[in-house]
Amino acid sequence: MAQLDTREKLAILADAAKYDASCASSGTAKRNSRDGKGLGSTEGMGICHAYAPDGRCISLLKILLTNSCIFDCHYCINRKSSNVRRARFTAQEVVNLTISFYKRNYIEGLFLSSGIIRSPDYTMEQLVEVARSLREDHHFRGYIHLKTIPDADPALIHQAGLHADRVSINVELPTAGGLKRLAPEKDGARIEGAMAEVKGAIADQRDAGKKYRNAPRFAPAGQSTQMIVGADAATDGDIVLRASKLYDRFSLRRVYYSAFSPIPDASAVLPLQRPPLMREHRLYQSDWLMRFYDYQPHEVVAAADAETGMLPLDIDPKLAWALKFRDRFPVDVNRAPREALLRVPGLGVKAVDAILASRRWRRLRLDDVARLTVSIAKLRPFLIAEDWRPVALAERADLKPLVAPKKKQQLELFAA
Ligand code: SF4
Repeated sequence: MAQLDTREKLAILADAAKYDASCASSGTAKRNSRDGKGLGSTEGMGICHAYAPDGRCISLLKILLTNSCIFDCHYCINRKSSNVRRARFTAQEVVNLTISFYKRNYIEGLFLSSGIIRSPDYTMEQLVEVARSLREDHHFRGYIHLKTIPDADPALIHQAGLHADRVSINVELPTAGGLKRLAPEKDGARIEGAMAEVKGAIADQRDAGKKYRNAPRFAPAGQSTQMIVGADAATDGDIVLRASKLYDRFSLRRVYYSAFSPIPDASAVLPLQRPPLMREHRLYQSDWLMRFYDYQPHEVVAAADAETGMLPLDIDPKLAWALKFRDRFPVDVNRAPREALLRVPGLGVKAVDAILASRRWRRLRLDDVARLTVSIAKLRPFLIAEDWRPVALAERADLKPLVAPKKKQQLELFAA
């Protein structure tokens, strides 16, 4: 490996980390202050944003320890057979970078992942050493998210959880068949075994924390995972069902969905084109329906096309479900229980809670609901209010064009 200075390593290893979607920042304009005017930059290497458990947005240094890897996962730019430029930080270099960025107020935490070098245990030892040194040698109180290596010794993964706020283990592909084909060296059972260990350790820590004030913390921000979307033949239905099982079995904080993006020098077994980014967005919306809107996984799957198993791209899954199950509407805003109101397309959790609070004192009219949502026109077929009752609107064959968003203007699933 050629001798690289820290800046060159940072450029390579921050770029290599961008494929991990579990804490991403995107969508902003490119700006910098290299001409001496102004302050700051949106193009800086390796800084991304994540949300803390209390809702604060925090900046993280997001890098890989190394982009060298002994595995050859087809979808990964860092795989053994890829001819990307390689770089590697020592644990001490990552510690120094984190501390110096932190002192300059660039970041509030670290997101650290790695390709596998020498062995899973050796790699995990290096990752743990970064977190240990930050916590014990430098008394670093910032946020640390460590990606763990599922094949590593469980004792090392446990050590990671003692120092990190969040640990994550990627399941990578939605189906066992996809994992076998695209990441043949990875073992689905071992990945799930590691997630089960982390879940157990988090639960033990919670129990211990109730009994002893000074019980050691273990991954207080929980564990998460990531699935690549569109690299194999898994349908949206498959992905939704897998995600729901992962939430149930491992008490995950989040499942992240990362639309597969073709990589330079890609393996021939991969699709040539990336899936539409909207597919990733629809999966995140489905995830929210299960986590915050009380939808069962089979109900979200029912919103998908029965033949292809894919969610529609032109409308959100909540509206797709409502259009398919019209017999569940209209819903009376003055009487319906919370769970029925949450099914109304365009009514978000906050709007539903505001409706429930207001209707204790008076009967709500359509205008009252309009103040809580972005577009009342789209809600009308699905609602009854004091002064409004849709006349057979829900049965109309042309209902979808009436309520579907016009070009680029999607009905807000989480409005208000
Ligand atoms: S183990 Fe991780 S870094 Fe290595 S090839 Fe597979 S996905 Fe890439």
